[in-house]
Amino acid sequence: MADLIGKVALVTGGSRGIGAAIAKRLAREGADVALTYVSSAKGASAVVAAIEANGRRALAIAADSADPQAVAAAVERTVAEFGRIDILVNNAGIFPYEPLEAVTLDSFDRTMAIHVRAAFVAAQAAARHMGTGGRIINIGSCLADRTGGPNMTVYAASKAALTGLSKGLAQDLGPRGITANVVHPGPTDTDMNPAQAEGADLQRQGLPLGRFGDADDVAATVAHLAGQGGRFITGAAIAVDGGFAA
Ligand code: NDP
Repeated sequence: MADLIGKVALVTGGSRGIGAAIAKRLAREGADVALTYVSSAKGASAVVAAIEANGRRALAIAADSADPQAVAAAVERTVAEFGRIDILVNNAGIFPYEPLEAVTLDSFDRTMAIHVRAAFVAAQAAARHMGTGGRIINIGSCLADRTGGPNMTVYAASKAALTGLSKGLAQDLGPRGITANVVHPGPTDTDMNPAQAEGADLQRQGLPLGRFGDADDVAATVAHLAGQGGRFITGAAIAVDGGFAA
């Protein structure tokens, strides 16, 4: 369980939910971890404290993923503080749930900026510093392949773009020994999608396993990809979705 000793990770949106679980899991595997947040300074500090209590270094960086300069600066700050970057997890996300007629260009652009442009900018910046063994892991969504309902056109499009982004990065960076993959979570119990909210039962009915995922379920797959077990996996889209896509 110490696959990642000596490695440095950056997790975007690491203050809550899936990103917080990923940050803590990578630290348990031995990595020093930087994480970004946009509004939850307290949540970010709590994750940092948990990681430090575990004996690893951690750093919270306020960086709005909608701002490409802030994203690139977060990568540089990680390298400046920890001396390297080996693992990038593009996780920060929002969930615009809007009838088609209500979608504005601003909301379209913001979703694409946070999910797609930020992931590209961070990957490009991180790749400049990564050596052999580098890992880029993008957090997509099960809705990328099967939307399952209305009002999620832009969200689904932005998450589907991460599959293409990951495959392109796998081609561009494979010759340097760097892998790139996308993990598509299914319904996962977080602030974004609480397991007890209205509508949650409908989601459960669509899952062969009959329950919401836990953020740790996603973190376990990310840790596998980040470690030795992931060294021959690249350009892959991996579902951690309780069978949503089945
Ligand atoms: P949460 O809403 O629980 O947490 C979102 C995280 O992203 C927080 O850390 C938040 O920071 C951060 N974030 C949001 N907007 C920005 C921004 N503009 N800049 C920087 N950070 C930002 O969501 P989840 O943990 O559920 O989701 C994590 C990822 O997983 C997302 O990409 C989501 O699309 C994806 N996903 C989630 C599913 C689910 O059922 N939960 C299913 C499929 C995919 P802060 O705390 O500061 O606001």
